[in-house]
Amino acid sequence: MKKEIALGIDIGGTNTAFGLVDREGNYLAGASIATDKHADINDYLKEMSAEIEKLNAFLKGQFEILGIGIGAPNANYYKGTIENAVNLRWKGVIPFCNMLKAYFPDIPSFITNDANAAAIGEMVYGGAKDMKDFVMVTLGTGLGSGFVANGKLIYGHDSFAGELGHINVEPHGRQCNCGLQGCLETYVSATGVKRTVFEMMSRYNDPSPLRDISFNEMSAKKVSELAEQNDKIALKTFAFTGELLGKALANTVAITSPEAVFLFGGLAKSGRLIFDPTKEALDKNVLSTFAGKVKLLPSQLSDNAAVYGAAALAWNELKK
Ligand SMILES: [Zn+2]
Repeated sequence: MKKEIALGIDIGGTNTAFGLVDREGNYLAGASIATDKHADINDYLKEMSAEIEKLNAFLKGQFEILGIGIGAPNANYYKGTIENAVNLRWKGVIPFCNMLKAYFPDIPSFITNDANAAAIGEMVYGGAKDMKDFVMVTLGTGLGSGFVANGKLIYGHDSFAGELGHINVEPHGRQCNCGLQGCLETYVSATGVKRTVFEMMSRYNDPSPLRDISFNEMSAKKVSELAEQNDKIALKTFAFTGELLGKALANTVAITSPEAVFLFGGLAKSGRLIFDPTKEALDKNVLSTFAGKVKLLPSQLSDNAAVYGAAALAWNELKK
């Protein structure tokens, strides 16, 4: 008998990673292709399905793919579509799950946005295994989030629920890619940290090697490395970022009463530099009913989290 597996696909603006994951969370094989190489989605699907066939051949056909889970920007879970994603070359509304049927006619596919997929991954394979209420915050170039309440991911009326990155934290604040001003992700994200570090350098006159780095060469990772060496500008940048995140989480917690908030992604890897000021601001600003009750935890998912999350989405849907 063939072993049953799910195919997880993580579609990013630059790369698409995919992998075969079994029910227990073992990652059996995977590969990736360039997303931005293909202006025509049909060419993209052709290359991806050929790569998946190669994986299957490599595993000597011992496996049967039961379902396909996809994490993608601006994905509509209800319709199986990717809608007007600014970071992808395919414009308009792409009926992704339907198009996939041409290549995998007998395998059901499910799609959701990348942060929601990460939340499901945390629930199925990670630190939220025994939790029914939690929030997943993914810190990358932007800030994504997935909300699980009463054991279920919240999709909302139109499938786009959980846009924590675009709540307002500063009236007339920084311009966001979404067209609004003062969104949380313009402050709390790798890009936000970059913008903040330049603000801190103009506001304070502490000497810092960061002053020799141009905007284009600056990265959140460099700020993190210098903060580890007690660089004052870098430490102020993290304190400011954590305070804004903690305040936003204090508001968030009041809405769904989560047991925990998980932080995932590049910035989360800065450890106590981001966790300490975030936790402090969360506890200070939260309604007394919730004070001290909400855990702030690092995600337990590995670097392949997005693929795990997408595969977990498929397993979750197949269970229904
Ligand atoms: Zn925004």
